[in-house]
Amino acid sequence: MADKRVFVLGAGASISHSKNISPNIESFFIKNDLTKTKKYQIICAHIKDTFDIDIQSSKRMPKINIEKIFTQLELDIENSQNPDLLAVKSNFLQFIQETLTNLESTVPLTNNSDYSLFYEKLEKTDTVMTFNWDIMLDDEMGRKPILEHYLLQRSNPKQELHKDKQYYNFILYLSGIRGMTWNAFGQGKPLLKWRGDQGYYLKMHGSVDWKYCDNDICKSSTNVFPVLEVNGEHHICSECYEEMKPLLLPPVLNKQYRRYSLIRKIWNAAAREMEIADEIVIWGYSLPPTDFYSEWLLRQANKSKIKSVSLIDPKVLKGLSREKSNRTINTTFVRKFSDIFQLDFWSPKLKYYENFEDYLNNITIEDKWGIQDTRSKR
Ligand SMILES: [Zn+2]
Repeated sequence: MADKRVFVLGAGASISHSKNISPNIESFFIKNDLTKTKKYQIICAHIKDTFDIDIQSSKRMPKINIEKIFTQLELDIENSQNPDLLAVKSNFLQFIQETLTNLESTVPLTNNSDYSLFYEKLEKTDTVMTFNWDIMLDDEMGRKPILEHYLLQRSNPKQELHKDKQYYNFILYLSGIRGMTWNAFGQGKPLLKWRGDQGYYLKMHGSVDWKYCDNDICKSSTNVFPVLEVNGEHHICSECYEEMKPLLLPPVLNKQYRRYSLIRKIWNAAAREMEIADEIVIWGYSLPPTDFYSEWLLRQANKSKIKSVSLIDPKVLKGLSREKSNRTINTTFVRKFSDIFQLDFWSPKLKYYENFEDYLNNITIEDKWGIQDTRSKR
């Protein structure tokens, strides 16, 4: 079998692909016109109450982290009986959805975008794990033709182009749509061994286009359905006719991973894939210190099997001044990863790239900035 390559993507990948249109966790509210609309009064009022920050104010806004708001809100919901908080959450999720889909619609579709080149280079056995909620990569991977084929029974010749690839395998083996396909038959036999002979697209924190049924006693409550209509559309569960909810998770509330069947399945699949990885590529993911579960996931890698770990991130470099000689490896950033994979940060197995284009052209930061010497002295 070909080498198993596992790609781990964070916000930096979507930011790079969209040429900085995609927001990072701290810029979600900045210059976001949605905060001015009546529709999102509830979440704006909640942020004002809880954090004393007026996101509707046109004045310079203090930095506010969207993941922090999300996490605090989930904790409030868990620890209080106040039904208003559920309305806040629903308003908030819709706000995230609309913000991301609006921004995505302004990203020009080009053949040489990062995600387009990335998808083109993927082998069938490569697995992609992403911590992003947006659907820019999903769209690149055939989201629309595949969903049209299965949800609308409308055949789209483009669907064939994506057959047996990452998004297609996610739909056919992991999502609720699986139940509508022939694939659901003849499965269910316990596996003796994780084969890893196919590649998956695994969205670790949910997605702006995912809906699920929150009714515990509904037969369909363990399923998650990606939907074609992303913006504010309501979907009704076909089993119990209850309104379906969006599935987005805040990154740090680890126990929530076990609450949703699909998310749990995705994390299990990710851990299995990580165990058999020969090559790991981490792109634009900076492993925040609170993200214990993601660190756990990376630690599932089999250190004696790993042939290489590549980091693609401008943060691998320190000293961004014009002076070329000032540039060195950012050891604080790099060590977070080298420790996990039990590699010295100067090990030849670790490769550092400033951006995705350099990765494609195999230009490491040592080649690019001539910092080999600095590195060997350490
Ligand atoms: Zn239902």
